[in-house]
Amino acid sequence: MPQIIDGKQISTEIKDELKLQVEQLKEQGKEVTLAVVQVGQNPASCVYVRNKKKACEYIGICSLSYELPEDTSEEELLKLINELNQDTKVNGILVQLPLPKHICQDKVLRAISPEKDVDCFHPVNVGKMFIGEPGFLPCTPAGVIQLLKRSNIEIAGKECVVIGRSNIVGKPLAMLMLHENATVTIAHSKTRDLKEVCKRADILIVAIGKPRMIDDTYIKEGAVVVDVGIHRNADNKLCGDVDYDKVAEKCSAITPVPGGVGPMTIAMLMRNCIESVKVGE
Ligand code: NAD
Repeated sequence: MPQIIDGKQISTEIKDELKLQVEQLKEQGKEVTLAVVQVGQNPASCVYVRNKKKACEYIGICSLSYELPEDTSEEELLKLINELNQDTKVNGILVQLPLPKHICQDKVLRAISPEKDVDCFHPVNVGKMFIGEPGFLPCTPAGVIQLLKRSNIEIAGKECVVIGRSNIVGKPLAMLMLHENATVTIAHSKTRDLKEVCKRADILIVAIGKPRMIDDTYIKEGAVVVDVGIHRNADNKLCGDVDYDKVAEKCSAITPVPGGVGPMTIAMLMRNCIESVKVGE
């Protein structure tokens, strides 16, 4: 039986540590405040926003909600972001994605002040992360690193293959694994002999957005497998990009879906909110 990497438990541990940090900040008279902006009522976004607010409440972070109608113009949204940038009581700003099609996502994300960019999407923060400067870390990638470290899985010197090269997951994750001294390969939809590339991995991280695509034929015996994917199948059950039952037999450790990477993303968002108090000082 492989080690099951328990993201639920690890994320709770982290949130409890953060709770203490928020209490200490409060003793110094510092309140942590996150502005959560949602445009429209995309059902998945509503669930994410609700979970983020719940995590804020648990940790003691004050969350301010801005629920805007679907037909909000880009100009109106940019005006709100500008106001939140100026508001000294607001430490972090989160704009829930996806935005309606008539709004340019890049323009909006770049309008958020880098000091308040708790999702770490602004090019300034992406650049800082790239060169290893302290500051915000991208939430899902940072969550994967914490999962590995807190499960006592050694990263330094290991062969790591990341499948997926998105700006939100694959690319920053590869960079964070490199900072942890892994030897990193990034595979993607144009990679030739994907199976052979994956079989080199001591640590295989899968972020492709294809339900259960990765089965045991992609896995080296004893590898560690991290599944970032989240999908809802026809019976409304959650599954990942990895065929868990087949892969579990061959690997030494694996993240389940649900209960693996998912809960870590919010825990890392909370960490960035606390960081935003320091960044803004
Ligand atoms: P994306 O669609 O932006 O990127 C997918 C990447 O996979 C692309 O770079 C593409 O080159 C690669 N890819 C696609 N098909 C491939 C194939 N057949 N072979 C090899 N590579 C292939 O997706 P994303 O935003 O990076 O998300 C990836 C997955 O992670 C999705 O399932 C998403 O729902 C999930 N996700 C989970 C969390 C979380 O908190 N757990 C956060 C973000 C994304």
